[in-house]
Amino acid sequence: MEDKIWLSSPHMGGNELKYIHEAFDTNWVAPLGPNVNGFEEDLAQYLQEEVKVVALSAGTAALHLALIQCGVGYGDEVICQSMTFSASANPIVYQGAFPVFVDSEPETWNICPFALEEAIKDRIAKGKVPKAIIAVHLYGMPFKVDEISGIAAKYNIPLIEDAAEALGSTYKGKACGTFGRMGVLSFNGNKIITTSGGGALVCHNQHEKDTAVFLSTQARDQAPHYQHSHIGYNYRMSNIAAGIGRGQMEVLPERVIQRRKAHDFYRELFHDIEGVKVFSEPTSDYYSNHWLSAIILNPNRSQVTPEDLRLALLESNIESRPLWKPMHLQPIFSGASYYGGKVAQELFENGLCLPSGSNLTENELHRIAQVIHRVFKKQYHLETKTN
Ligand SMILES: *Cc1c(COP(=O)(O)O)cnc(C)c1O
Repeated sequence: MEDKIWLSSPHMGGNELKYIHEAFDTNWVAPLGPNVNGFEEDLAQYLQEEVKVVALSAGTAALHLALIQCGVGYGDEVICQSMTFSASANPIVYQGAFPVFVDSEPETWNICPFALEEAIKDRIAKGKVPKAIIAVHLYGMPFKVDEISGIAAKYNIPLIEDAAEALGSTYKGKACGTFGRMGVLSFNGNKIITTSGGGALVCHNQHEKDTAVFLSTQARDQAPHYQHSHIGYNYRMSNIAAGIGRGQMEVLPERVIQRRKAHDFYRELFHDIEGVKVFSEPTSDYYSNHWLSAIILNPNRSQVTPEDLRLALLESNIESRPLWKPMHLQPIFSGASYYGGKVAQELFENGLCLPSGSNLTENELHRIAQVIHRVFKKQYHLETKTN
């Protein structure tokens, strides 16, 4: 059996160990320390906006703190894009609040402005103003930032930007993660850069950052003894993990180019295959890091199903994966409210994520191309027979 080709695997740059060694040499193995500050500064500089970044143990932790800072509490309602990873929605429930899920639109696969406004109006009519909106840049593709921000502003509801998959993406030249009242990044093992596990909260002023640091370090009041006036969390990033992050920041621009090259490879590969579309930017306003390259099959025009292709790739030890299963279709959220139609559901049924790592070799791309050609050649044979 040939070596496994992963959907998205960690890709070190080389200097990560240097920063970890520095931490060891200074015995700064405890949490916090110079790598944490350095990583936060690297991120703020990369995002190129007046932002304050807080490095945390996970993107999920960042989302949780964002909800807390937006005042979400027990019994509140929070609007959330349905087409996403469950970590976007779970922190709503941590707060004792209720998610209200909203469908996607077909251009960016992200939260639909029309369904969003319908949801807000209907929740208000039912007596509750949603406390926050969580919008996601899925697979690195920016959501419709102008439309969604406009609606959030119109109803005065804070927008939380889940940019966990979109570090390196931009909308109209501005970095994803900087548009919302708060932004969320993830450095989980499969993301575009990794700290082996970690995340960050993007804030817009020092007070917000101080609050996030306070809450993420057990909410200790200013006192020589341990005194607490708030519930705290142990969510801060460690100095070791941040050392990996600093090394990864040195190669992030290169990683974006490499992921985008994988996307170009699939564009080329599928360009003459009937009934398959590679998920791409709708206009030049959108610049995706193409964290994962994904395709969508037209069930009326392709004899191949996403599952056929997934199994054929698996036979050659190549990992691929269905798109995120929408939250409103998840057993755990079966009781939640939902607004919209079947866009997210149809994406889930007809889509597939393909190997997208920045470390894919020529030989691996060749193996992928061979399987895809073989699977879709069968389709052509079927077509000529039926014609
Ligand atoms: C990865 C991810 C998260 C969670 O980040 P972790 O660092 O794994 O906690 C949240 N939202 C989306 C859309 C993600 O892809």
